[in-house]
Amino acid sequence: MQSDNPTTPQERTRFSRRTSVEQVEEGQFLAPKFDRNGFIPVVTTDADTGEVLMVATMDAEALLRTVDTRQAHYWSRSRNVRWRKGASSGLIQDVVEIRIDDDQDAVWLRVRVRGSGASCHVGYRSCLYRSIKLDEGSPANAIELRFEETEKTFDPGAVYGNAPNPTRL
Ligand SMILES: [Zn+2]
Repeated sequence: MQSDNPTTPQERTRFSRRTSVEQVEEGQFLAPKFDRNGFIPVVTTDADTGEVLMVATMDAEALLRTVDTRQAHYWSRSRNVRWRKGASSGLIQDVVEIRIDDDQDAVWLRVRVRGSGASCHVGYRSCLYRSIKLDEGSPANAIELRFEETEKTFDPGAVYGNAPNPTRL
């Protein structure tokens, strides 16, 4: 089914309609499925190391801009704005490859990050800088986290200044 998100004429031109399962799974044209709010999830990895850097969201325009500029654009659901990664930090993500999954409702960006190579606004290389401890703890206690990255690659205060933190409680 064609999603019922509002789409611009450009989006209708560049994104193919979803007409059959075979077409979506085996076809040669991009026919992305956005959710009811117009978003598609994105996983972003380092093109050279394979490290997962971010799990994020795009709207249709962010996907188009990413394809056309070969720089990663996302939609921030906490700030409710589309953004070009690195616009304020300089940590631009140059796109090496964009993959779409089987049913075309998830995107995989393979990127090279400029500057210090970090992708996370907290200062770490990857947003997924902590793991859940699996080897200790008891069912009665709070689940603990372990830092897998122990040093920040940049100082967020120096890079972002007084810009509001995108993390929401
Ligand atoms: Zn992050």
